[in-house]
Amino acid sequence: MTLTDTNTASSRTAFIEKTPLALYVAPAKPSLIGLSRAELAEVLGTVGVPEGQRKMRVQQLWHWIYFRGFTAFDAMSSVSKELRAALAERFTLERPEVVAEQVSVDGTRKWLLRLPGDPESGLPHDVECVYIPDTERGTLCVSSQVGCTLNCSFCHTGTQRLVRNLTAGEIVGQVMAARDRLGDWPGGVRPTDGVIPTGDRCVTNIVMMGMGEPLYNFEAVRDALLIVADGDGIAISKRRITLSTSGVVPMIARAGAEIGCMLAISLHAVRDDLRNDLVPLNRKYPIRELLDACRNYPGVSNAKRITFEYVMLKGINDSIEDAKALVRLLKGIPAKINLIPFNPWPGSTYECSDWEQIEKFSQVVFDAGYASPVRTPRGRDILAACGQLKSATEKLSARERMALRAMAMTE
Ligand code: SAH
Ligand code: SF4
Repeated sequence: MTLTDTNTASSRTAFIEKTPLALYVAPAKPSLIGLSRAELAEVLGTVGVPEGQRKMRVQQLWHWIYFRGFTAFDAMSSVSKELRAALAERFTLERPEVVAEQVSVDGTRKWLLRLPGDPESGLPHDVECVYIPDTERGTLCVSSQVGCTLNCSFCHTGTQRLVRNLTAGEIVGQVMAARDRLGDWPGGVRPTDGVIPTGDRCVTNIVMMGMGEPLYNFEAVRDALLIVADGDGIAISKRRITLSTSGVVPMIARAGAEIGCMLAISLHAVRDDLRNDLVPLNRKYPIRELLDACRNYPGVSNAKRITFEYVMLKGINDSIEDAKALVRLLKGIPAKINLIPFNPWPGSTYECSDWEQIEKFSQVVFDAGYASPVRTPRGRDILAACGQLKSATEKLSARERMALRAMAMTE
């Protein structure tokens, strides 16, 4: 497959996955953000810290970097002056650069983040990160790739030709950049505009639902989420971290075993023929195999349910028969169902289901025992997905904000 093959609607069904380009070139002075404790210890070795001291020094650095959110070494008072200077000479604590910020009246914030780009053309790579505040929690929607390896037919990110995997540092860096902007570190100053949750933390939940397929960038996503969940630093519990996948079956067990966060599955169809069209990866990993992987997801239980996302596409997957089949299909799996009204984008061939149809569909799901399958906290507006906001330079519409709330999945 050449890159140009991916550019037309007709060719989008012709392949399953794109190959990510190995375009990332670390800056001459790399950031320490995203390194594990073991990797940090190695770094300390390179600046002359004796082995016996490294564990303790790592603990100190971890506190300054991930608990306090410091962006420079020089104020780290428990670290010796010499070590601070040695680190500052060779490393930074940089996060992705925020190049645009949009704040909506209800406090939803969207940041466009700039990452090191193509070393040949010099073109930057951008990803988006969206913050959705509510009264008691704040959810951050984080990206795992520039573009996406896959090409779901209803998803705008899938149309992007370029794919680059984010590094662990760039993934953790999104969380840190968001917390910087929100004054969400100890002693930080909160923004005065928009809504901020009432508790002592602004970012309480993470959803890997921005751009990209997280299980096609497994190691970086895993390493990043383990840092985000580390109790001595950012400390967001794994129960408050949700990874959404389009169904990369062989990686699901590893995600459970090695990350242990909450899982969401982009199901969207109850029959293989339709799912093959909507989520072409289904041709590789059909529904039955996907659901088997869910049944065996490590730790799955009624207290730790898997969320099934189902985008409502008019006349495509939204019949009452589909709703009944959905309920039958998920029988025996500890599940939550999240109906997502389709958010159209320029060039998309689908329409969002009518609200009446969504309600009827939702009723079937509700009658089967699933609580509030459509998240519409306010009104009947329709919704959007995090992964497609990058293209929209205008302010988030009311609809999109509602959508983001629906996607926040923090209940
Ligand atoms: N790649 C992962 C995570 C990012 S997409 C995945 O596919 O699960 C996050 C969610 O947004 C997925 O459920 C995806 O199917 C959904 N989505 C993508 N485009 C959408 C659109 N235009 N309208 C509504 N939901 C959409
Ligand atoms: Fe990629 Fe998810 Fe969009 Fe599919 S829905 S193209 S997997 S981001």
